[in-house]
Amino acid sequence: MNYKSSRGKVSGVSSAEAIKKGIAADGGLFVPESIPTLNEDLFGALEELNYQQRASRILAYYLTDFTEQEIHHCVQGAYNSDNFDNTRIAPLARLGENVYIQELWHGPTCAFKDMALQILPYLMTTSMEKTGETSEVVILVATSGDTGKAALEGFSDVQGTRIIVFFPAEGVSEVQKRQMVTQEGNNVYVAGVQGNFDDAQSGVKNIFASQDYNERLAEQNMKMSSANSINWGRLLPQIVYYISAYIDLRTEGAVKTGDKINIVVPTGNFGNILAAYYAGKMGVPIGKLICAANSNNVLTDFIRSGIYDRNRPFEKTISPSMDILISSNLERLLFEITGHDAQKVSNWMEELQSSGCYNVGDDVYQDVARLFWSDYCSDQETIATINRSWKEKRYLLDTHTAVAVNVYEKYQQATGDNTISLVASTASPFKFGSSVAAAVLPPEMVAGRSEFELLYLLEEYTGVQMPDAIKGLEHRPVLHKTVCKIEDMEKTVSQFLGLE
Ligand SMILES: *Cc1c(COP(=O)(O)O)cnc(C)c1O
Repeated sequence: MNYKSSRGKVSGVSSAEAIKKGIAADGGLFVPESIPTLNEDLFGALEELNYQQRASRILAYYLTDFTEQEIHHCVQGAYNSDNFDNTRIAPLARLGENVYIQELWHGPTCAFKDMALQILPYLMTTSMEKTGETSEVVILVATSGDTGKAALEGFSDVQGTRIIVFFPAEGVSEVQKRQMVTQEGNNVYVAGVQGNFDDAQSGVKNIFASQDYNERLAEQNMKMSSANSINWGRLLPQIVYYISAYIDLRTEGAVKTGDKINIVVPTGNFGNILAAYYAGKMGVPIGKLICAANSNNVLTDFIRSGIYDRNRPFEKTISPSMDILISSNLERLLFEITGHDAQKVSNWMEELQSSGCYNVGDDVYQDVARLFWSDYCSDQETIATINRSWKEKRYLLDTHTAVAVNVYEKYQQATGDNTISLVASTASPFKFGSSVAAAVLPPEMVAGRSEFELLYLLEEYTGVQMPDAIKGLEHRPVLHKTVCKIEDMEKTVSQFLGLE
């Protein structure tokens, strides 16, 4: 399987090259030249396998330049009981008659980003070996809060790599921030940016795109790569868990052969829901992909109109990992839907860059609307959903997953569709504990408490166990104190790398 760029100027790239580079030289995203399809026999065979074995089988379709042993090494290094606190890795829970939740947050940083970022360092180092890489790979990350920690945890002390994370200094939860600024490791660097996630992501993309800067790093025998979901190596492991969930629903008897499922995804950068789309293209029978947004509802408007317009105020919400107005991975979807029309995609991305807005036209819009449904959820509705889920079902939702559950309820009301639905649960409730505590605890218990006090109260009050990874976080020493202006991101990278 080879990869090509969504902007059309790069093709015939092996998976090892695509993963190592992260982003194509023409500024586009790597996509597979074709999408493999799985047949009924294979779905049947996957039923007998555990998560690791399923992952190995599915990854092999895309990593055709990797040996079976290499894939096995990557999978075993990532999905094991040292890293994940649930032996099923991505277990299902039942939330209602037709609704299942897939818990994607049993990894070391308590968010779904671990599903990809535990394996990406293995894919990256294997790719470096396979391509005879002699340069040090510098991984630049912009994070809305969860990718940063997951990438730091994954790449900490990984030979031949350095990892630099930029997060919005005032735009992440206290737990998220603490997790990042206390990160240990000889090759890790963390900086807060005085801006929002879109600023941080644009800053990182500009550094990637700077020929001067690439040359400067080359002189130091360094190369840049990405651990954001623009890297194909981030997206690919996410396809696995959707296929695995479908197989689990079959083995549980919730769906029969050929029955469709809906997949509901709390969405920001459009990576996670795009992985569900690819699972569908590979043969998982999907009814609707339900794109749940918070009040940064640029994707909801797009799915309802075909017009992507980021010209609107950036809202800070209690689901901060979805506070995004420029959803990078939409580019891959548009490339697929237009039948790999790189010219159209490039034009839209240029319009997005210059005016903040583009219109995909009626045909593409009709295709989008056939596959996707979308609505959004306010902070108030998020809190009410967490409260109700706890009271009525004794299931504790984090703020992002609550957005998805709320939008699923709106979908059901609007359509009456009773198809079995899978909600991607993207974070442990303790990762956004103060908002969750405010939603379930009596108000007098919450008043005047710090975020960390609330976590312990939440654990005590609900009897739901706080993940070990979060316990005691408030006592760990702060190791990273850098805060920089948006326009100083490149300079900050240079300082971290000792170039100035
Ligand atoms: C990153 C993240 C999201 C959004 O996922 P995308 O792939 O960016 O759409 C949702 N919830 C949580 C908890 C996240 O960390």
